[in-house]
Amino acid sequence: MIYLDGNSLGPLPSAVKKRMARVVCDEWGAMLIRGWNQAGWMEQPRRVGERVGRLIGAEPGSVVMGDTLSIKVYQALVSALEMNPGRRVILSDTGNFPSDLYIADGLTRTLGDGYELRTVDPEQVMDAIDETVAVILITEVDYRTGRRHDMKALTQKAHAVGALAIWDLAHSAGALPVDVAAEGADLAVGCTYKYLNAGPGGPAFIYVAPRHQERARPALSGWMGHEAPFAFDLDYRPGHGIERMRVGTPLILQLAALDAALDVWEGVDMWDVRTSSLELGDLFIAGVEARCPELKLATPRAHEERGSQVSFEHPEGYAIMQALIAEGVIGDFRAPVTLRFGFTPLYIRADDVNRAVDILARIIGERRWDRPEFKRRARVT
Ligand SMILES: *Cc1c(COP(=O)(O)O)cnc(C)c1O
Repeated sequence: MIYLDGNSLGPLPSAVKKRMARVVCDEWGAMLIRGWNQAGWMEQPRRVGERVGRLIGAEPGSVVMGDTLSIKVYQALVSALEMNPGRRVILSDTGNFPSDLYIADGLTRTLGDGYELRTVDPEQVMDAIDETVAVILITEVDYRTGRRHDMKALTQKAHAVGALAIWDLAHSAGALPVDVAAEGADLAVGCTYKYLNAGPGGPAFIYVAPRHQERARPALSGWMGHEAPFAFDLDYRPGHGIERMRVGTPLILQLAALDAALDVWEGVDMWDVRTSSLELGDLFIAGVEARCPELKLATPRAHEERGSQVSFEHPEGYAIMQALIAEGVIGDFRAPVTLRFGFTPLYIRADDVNRAVDILARIIGERRWDRPEFKRRARVT
């Protein structure tokens, strides 16, 4: 199998199997409730957050794990809006992942009172950042096309007009070098089941810049973000620093999987990963364009304008992808016409890319996709 879908769900690292067995048997099984103290479960969201933080250039003590990305988008948005009172516009773009837009839209409806989600084309974000904007909510790498925003330039523009910047790093963390501190992000969020290989249901992360940490109010004020959860006070007092972004009981099993999956990143230079991923992407683009002219490239060619995935468009994209999967090349499809291929140099090599191109060329050349079973849509595409 050639797995080109690590941008959607990373594969199972061997270290995770062993760790899961140990946590289930030795911690949950043997320690039972004592695991909270004896196995350090309560510290996991911060401890693992610290490891993820290193991959995104976060200052120490600025990242905590928990919940899902959609939830963390909500928390980040509320915090940012409250830190910028007097403005009511959330600015995002049509290339953003729908869940981010749905969450933002839902929040503006809850708040009422003139709050608004303004959505422009990706190319227009820079010009749309003006004095009415409270916060920009931008996903660095477009999940469909792989197009990459200029994080530094957009953040600078936001700050210049008095807006805050939230970055969604779902397709960045573990895919390319990110430096939230140097680039001045106010808040950042992301998931771990894509390039970080935490497995289905892996917890999300949230970053809050140190300058905001004692000011940001976590809208989801759960007991785990309380200053003293086990005092069981009737009143909520936010915890110190990034701890306040915790909500409920940590996802211990999923955090253990993520913690083990993060071991492979120790000693890895993200610039090396980036160089390889661009080489693999270039190789794939050149091969597909030479041999499958019916497929139209949807990803920018310029290195600085793309992430770690390459997308092509074809009206029969769904059927083509199903035929590819049937022949052992796993990518995925995003409606209406996009075939997505993720390049993850930790386990994909040039040889895999060349073989994938061969198989794709045969499927297109011989119209092997043109069969009813490849056109029936499954629930998850
Ligand atoms: C994958 C992805 C999500 C998914 O959110 P979940 O809550 O983890 O399901 C959200 N936003 C972006 C930008 C994504 O790429």
